[in-house]
Amino acid sequence: MIITHPLTPAVDLSEAEEAYAIRASAHSADPSVLRVAQRFQELVTDLDVARVILALERGANPVRNRADRWSMPSWNQLRGMSSGRLSNAVREMIRTGLVRHYRDHDGDHLIPAPVHFRMIHQDATQTSACLFVGEDLGPMRARLVDRLDLVDCLNCEAAISTGYVRGL
Ligand SMILES: [Zn+2]
Repeated sequence: MIITHPLTPAVDLSEAEEAYAIRASAHSADPSVLRVAQRFQELVTDLDVARVILALERGANPVRNRADRWSMPSWNQLRGMSSGRLSNAVREMIRTGLVRHYRDHDGDHLIPAPVHFRMIHQDATQTSACLFVGEDLGPMRARLVDRLDLVDCLNCEAAISTGYVRGL
């Protein structure tokens, strides 16, 4: 159940919709706890990235043209987001490791990074429970949630289930 502002109509999301929403915002973090290299450039916002991840997790497959610009096959999939804005968001997501980009005979594919279980440390920094390789370096960002049922990293699940959490 998502609590909405009292002046807005109550939004009763289905469980699946709530799961999509939590996973789509799992990259969000206060800039003060991010390394400079992890902060989005090109005026890309957390919300832009959330919208793109939501579309990807719902099965959208953006296409890339020869000028390295991305667009959605259907305008409906990212209502109102221009190709320029989408392209900046996708480039920043690739740079920060939030999506993996590969190309095969079917064209370009963007695969969202796995969602990890959030660990909050004494200095307020956040890491995954599995401390995946590269997480502590440069621009790499993590998708972190507090609900184990929304995690899809097997190493995080293993760390939690054995009670052995690296780095703590
Ligand atoms: Zn993990």
